Amino acid sequence: MTKGTIGVTTENIFPVIKKFLYSDHEIFLRELVSNAIDATQKIRTLASFGEFQGELGDLKVCVKIDKEAGTLTVSDHGIGMDADDIEKYINQIAFSGAEEFLEKYKDTANSIIGHFGLGFYSAFMVSKKVVIRSLSYKEGAEAVEWTCDGSPEFEMQPTDKQERGTDIILYIDDDNKEFLEQIRIDALLKKYCRFLPVPVISGKKQEWKDGKMTDTDEDNVVNATEPLWTKKPSELTDKDYMEFYHELHPGEEDPLFWIHLNVDYPFNLTGILYFPKIKTDIDIRKNRIQLYCNQVFVTDQVEGVVPEFMMLMQGVIDSPDIPLNVSRSYLQADQQVKKISGYISKKVAEKLDRMFKDDRKTFEQKWPDIEVFIKYGMLTDEKFYEASKKFFLLRDVNDNYYTLEEYRKLVEASQTDREDTVVYIYCNDKTTQYAYVKGAEEKGYDVLLMNGQLDQHLIHFLESKLEKTRFVRVDSDTPERLIPKADAENATLSPLEADILTGMFRSQLPEIKDTNFIVEYSAVGQDAAPATVTQNEMMRRMKDMAAMQPGMNFYGQMPNMYALVINTEQPVVKKIIEEGKASLENEIVPVRAAIETLNNEIEATRKEINDKKEETEKAPLRTAIGEKEKEVEQKRSEEERILREYASTQPKVKQLIDLALLQNGLLKGEALTAFIERSVKLL
Ligand code: ADP
Repeated sequence: MTKGTIGVTTENIFPVIKKFLYSDHEIFLRELVSNAIDATQKIRTLASFGEFQGELGDLKVCVKIDKEAGTLTVSDHGIGMDADDIEKYINQIAFSGAEEFLEKYKDTANSIIGHFGLGFYSAFMVSKKVVIRSLSYKEGAEAVEWTCDGSPEFEMQPTDKQERGTDIILYIDDDNKEFLEQIRIDALLKKYCRFLPVPVISGKKQEWKDGKMTDTDEDNVVNATEPLWTKKPSELTDKDYMEFYHELHPGEEDPLFWIHLNVDYPFNLTGILYFPKIKTDIDIRKNRIQLYCNQVFVTDQVEGVVPEFMMLMQGVIDSPDIPLNVSRSYLQADQQVKKISGYISKKVAEKLDRMFKDDRKTFEQKWPDIEVFIKYGMLTDEKFYEASKKFFLLRDVNDNYYTLEEYRKLVEASQTDREDTVVYIYCNDKTTQYAYVKGAEEKGYDVLLMNGQLDQHLIHFLESKLEKTRFVRVDSDTPERLIPKADAENATLSPLEADILTGMFRSQLPEIKDTNFIVEYSAVGQDAAPATVTQNEMMRRMKDMAAMQPGMNFYGQMPNMYALVINTEQPVVKKIIEEGKASLENEIVPVRAAIETLNNEIEATRKEINDKKEETEKAPLRTAIGEKEKEVEQKRSEEERILREYASTQPKVKQLIDLALLQNGLLKGEALTAFIERSVKLL
């Protein structure tokens, strides 16, 4: 019998393993089964090269629980190990450089395992003692038994094992009794070993007999050894893909389409990615893509491995080049992983491009289901954006679809403003913005439908990407002013008319919570609407953004700002101005004149103050100004009162305001009822 010390440089490596890896300790089973699979595949390889000429036998891996003995055993018929192998692979190699490594990766304990061949030692996370019984494939090899109780000391001695291969026997410690439960082990095997390339057996299949579940003679195989992604796409039917999808993601709706990935240069990668139907809100549900390394399940937390927007997809990715067992931060920094992520993104873009080219109609039909995915990709992945230019579609309110290039051509001529910027008009609700859409269309403009949840971001994004382009929402101005042209007409009102007009309308505006109005006027032709409520594009965007981003409360708390734009050329408005002027001139003109005089006097006094040097001389003048300002204030209130009193006798004013509010969806409740009653009276 040999006794010895495992080649560890840190004496207490085992406590370290136990402590650091505590949360992840279930992975020991994956490690041991993977080793068993490796050993099995090695013997196959040796046989195929003629280096092993004996009987291969039944190449399966067995996981067996012995509750009485308190053991869990993983057995294989692989290449086995002799004493030298154990010395080399188990006693020495595993811990070479462990100390240095631990020092470096203190915080990401998970990286220890796998990276430094600590796979086997993960057994100590759950065991008080581990025994290896092995018989090497080599001719004349002697079977050996190695025992270690979790201290750096081990014992090794010859044994009587007859069959080639290795048994790893774990004496499960008291804290980890769960790993002696068949249900727990089966669940773990299902999680990690479901697609391993060698049959993995966990106990026997059971049947209902004599009133209870009893073992049959048949092995319970836990895995499918040839999962779909390892097969050639040409050999597979749509049905195969669908079935596999439902196997991976039970209870989900059929996917829209899928991509079978298959590369061997510059890295190895296979897999199948499915596009699920994405419901109204993007929920980046985690754990939708499973990551495998040579058919061994690694993780379903793929943040950092696949581009963020791919998290909307489902399926599997298998790559031996993805380092097994390392922490996520390590994965994210890994160059290989970055390349893989870039590759997947490219493949997805290619697939979409092909679908678009091959059958645009179908692609357009699928658009509502895939647009969130594509937009998300564009917003988060520069390369994907570049690729997506070919198939990204804008959709207008009449359900016409255009690529970016097509749309530019469509609107360039009619929708370029006087600053040479092409204005893309959009609405986000066809029903509530109907009047505005109609108004814009009557001007010969096209209106896009941008009602997706990412569209606000997308608008910002496209504005930054597309040259000389800006977006305005259809209700951000009157149709005539949406796209300011060089030849735009300015309203020609005298200052008196302007005062009467805006004063009358201002006095009749409703009080709406958190909402402010300003009154503007413009001359947009006698056929255009008499009054329109608009909401400034920039102000609205800021508020919208604030609503989505926490921390921008300042904007969020600002009131909604609307403009009531009055068309001075519309006949009804014209009449209101004329009648107002006729009725109010006598009253208003003197007030206005008084204000003017006062203002002139204030101005003159200001000059006087400037000429004076002594503070004692300035003070009384300032007081005089203060008093005059108060007087101006009073006069203004008087003017306001006159206009309000008059306007309240003019139901048409209120009626026009309400019509404009109604069009914008702002007329509700009591105000709406009052409007209806007034309308009836006017009729
Ligand atoms: P890794 O698998 O990452 O190399 P491990 O600590 O899991 O690290 O295993 C160390 C080595 O021990 C393996 O590379 C292999 O040579 C040997 N080994 C482990 N388990 C078995 C087994 N079941 N059969 C044959 N050799 C094994």
